[in-house]
Amino acid sequence: MAAVVNWAWRHEWRVRARGASHGWSPLTVTEGTPSGAPVLLIDTAPHLTGLALDSPNAVRAGTGVTMEALLTFLERHGLGVTATPAPGVLTLGGALAIDAHGTAVPARGERLLPGHTYGSLSNLILSLTAVVWDSRAGEYVLRTFHRDEADCAALLTHLGRSLVTEVVLRVGANTDLRCVSRTDIPAGELFAAPGSGRGARSRASWTRPGGSRRSGSPSPSTPG
Ligand SMILES: Cc1cc2nc3c(=O)[nH]c(=O)nc-3n(C[C@H](O)[C@H](O)[C@H](O)COP(=O)(O)OP(=O)(O)OC[C@H]3O[C@@H](n4cnc5c(N)ncnc54)[C@H](O)[C@@H]3O)c2cc1C
Repeated sequence: MAAVVNWAWRHEWRVRARGASHGWSPLTVTEGTPSGAPVLLIDTAPHLTGLALDSPNAVRAGTGVTMEALLTFLERHGLGVTATPAPGVLTLGGALAIDAHGTAVPARGERLLPGHTYGSLSNLILSLTAVVWDSRAGEYVLRTFHRDEADCAALLTHLGRSLVTEVVLRVGANTDLRCVSRTDIPAGELFAAPGSGRGARSRASWTRPGGSRRSGSPSPSTPG
């Protein structure tokens, strides 16, 4: 990976990672990029596909794995995550790049299980390996950043302005989630302000008791 980036740098090409190309945002080919622009797309999905348990509660994953492959692998080991994007076809690298998340929030009184987060997937990163400039070597190199290093923060969510090859994610025990779709609630009721008196079936009233919608909780789902 570093060799490709160094080639591109020496030949004045720009490098962008390509995941599943499932996004609608103009992040990979930015607005105004002419068709002949020297941009090298690196297709991560065929090759950056490593998946292994690093410890009983951490998984090491190539950024080209799909979310479906990652979650299936975790499930086989009795592990999982609470908040994850809805589509399974996204690559992990593409999801992390944009701070992807699920729709899980804690119910009233609910406590986080060890190893889980209600926030974005990037919250789970323990370490990541990225292609970065090494001023001493005078070229791009692969470097691993641990979560407690200040420089790691810029790489947790970078909107495609970096190239991340591998991550280690904290994970927890797998739990059942139930997804319920409701289409019979008018927008005025669903988005009624809390306390307005119109919100018996509002987002706020569903969320408070249902929270992350564990098995058995009666709240609706919202797509990501
Ligand atoms: C129908 C639909 C439903 C969605 N639902 C959700 C949802 O429920 N929750 C949610 O959070 N998001 C959701 N998204 C958004 C989705 O998470 C993002 O579009 C995500 O970036 C797509 O991943 P991808 O693998 O297709 O990445 P791509 O579209 O291929 O790339 C997206 C960006 O990530 C960068 N990138 C990809 N791989 C790497 C890498 N290894 N290193 C560095 N940069 C990289 C690319 O350069 C680009 O800038 C949805 C999108 C769609 C279209």
